[in-house]
Amino acid sequence: MLFKIPESFRIAGVKHAVELDPNLGLDYRLKGEATYGHRKVVLCSQQPIEEQRRAFLHEAIHHVDVLFDIRLRESQVIRLATGIAELIQQLEPDSAQELAGMIMERGHET
Ligand SMILES: [Zn+2]
Repeated sequence: MLFKIPESFRIAGVKHAVELDPNLGLDYRLKGEATYGHRKVVLCSQQPIEEQRRAFLHEAIHHVDVLFDIRLRESQVIRLATGIAELIQQLEPDSAQELAGMIMERGHET
């Protein structure tokens, strides 16, 4: 998936923060975490950027679930994230400038 993980995002107008934590998941391989009280997604910054994007999408879906009171099971969140990731992979940036920015960002990947 070729998208920039935002520093914050809104769901139903409610602002959510995104934080990177290099220590998240060191003990039990947690790739991401959704904290509902604090309206936050925490991602393990030691994992590859593609894994961070997948974790971001998964945790954001958890927040959509909570805000819209959908009451998804974990297995449903996983399948939704898989399907939406496939959809995102087929989307193209809508301008050369945006694409250039994404390529520059990818250049920083380790
Ligand atoms: Zn989950």
